[in-house]
Order: sequence, then C-alpha cells, then structure tokens
Amino acid sequence: MIIKTQVVSHWEQNARVLIDPIMKHAVIVDPGAEVEVLLNLAEPAINQVTDIFITHCHIDHAGGVAALLELFDQRGLARPRVAYHTEGQFLGDRIDMQSISMGLPPGQYRNVPKVDLDLKGLTSFSVGSVTGKLLYTPGHAPGHIALYFELPEPVVISGDALFRRSIGRTDLPGGDYELLIQSIKSQLLTLPDETKVLSGHGPDTTIKDERARNPFLN
Ligand SMILES: [Zn+2]
Repeated sequence: MIIKTQVVSHWEQNARVLIDPIMKHAVIVDPGAEVEVLLNLAEPAINQVTDIFITHCHIDHAGGVAALLELFDQRGLARPRVAYHTEGQFLGDRIDMQSISMGLPPGQYRNVPKVDLDLKGLTSFSVGSVTGKLLYTPGHAPGHIALYFELPEPVVISGDALFRRSIGRTDLPGGDYELLIQSIKSQLLTLPDETKVLSGHGPDTTIKDERARNPFLN
C-alpha cells in the first residue's frame, strides 16, 4: 500500500492518501483542507476513491470533507463514502460556527456531511485488497478511531491520539485525559514494536519509541 502525506489546514494537519496500487483503489484520510491537492494525490486511483475516512470530527481533520465531495461531483467522479464514528458527530456539526467564531474565511471549513459508513462497532476497514483494523481510541475526541495495517509493514494512522513524545489535548469538548491514556495503552502500545506511527500532527514515530520515551506514558 502506498501512503502519501499532505500537510493541510491552519493547524498543519497530516492528511493522508492511501492507495492500493494493485486494485487501484484509494482512501483519503482526514481532509481538513486543501482538498484539490489531496484528490490529485489519489492518482493513479483517482477514479476509484472508495472512502473519505475521518479519524475524528475536529475542524482540522474533517472541515474539508464537504468541499472534497463537491470536487468529486465537479469532476464527474463517483462520490466516495464518508466514514467516521458517529459518537463524534456533534463535533462535526459545529465546524461552521467554530470557523466563524475564529474569524476564518467563510466556507473554508464546513460541517461534516452525513455519514455513509458509521465506524461505530466496526473492527475492520479495507483499502482495495488491503484490510486494516479499526482501533477505538477515544479521549482526545469522542468517537476517535485509529487505523492499523499489519501488511505490507505495520503502520498505524493514529490521528490525534498519539504524537511523537506527546499525546492529544483533552481540553476540548468531549475530551477525557484518563480515557485517552487508557485508549493509547490498550489499543496502540499493544501493537508490534516496529509499527510506524503516522500522527495527525508532527513527525512520524514508532510504537517502540513511544513506549520507551513518551513522557505522558511513563
Ligand atoms: Zn483533534
């Protein structure tokens, strides 16, 4: 599987495009903004983007989903499903308001569209022929999901749960520090040592490194 990264939004969020080069299927993860760039990154699978996957419904991860869907329509491409855990729906419903209150350009960040694939209760998710595991990791935000692929090499898209030497903030609505620590310890630190961690912000790391050196987890 090919994983491309694009830093997007006012909050420098790491959006990802996952591509199965064999079936030529793609999934766009956390399109917070700069959706045209993200869609173009889906080449050579631009005609078969199956899902827009949202780790959690914060503005910097999900504020571009509505614009991205419109771009599919404009280009005459089949609309992908919108996939997220609906526990976080209330966060996605306040992005318009939040954007206005922050004085951001109108329309740049918009409410998250209706869910097509509710990740609630699901345990697996596929990008073409590659199947990954959904890891329920609330604490930074309700309904937060990390996405783990064992093959071709172990990698986890950790959203805002785990960062290199840090963890997600828990002072936003629905945040819960104890719950986040519990999520990280039970769902992420139990992954194989060599698992690459692709976080929502900042540089990549590994599970082994964070288990040993993350000051919040020791
Ligand atoms: Zn967040």
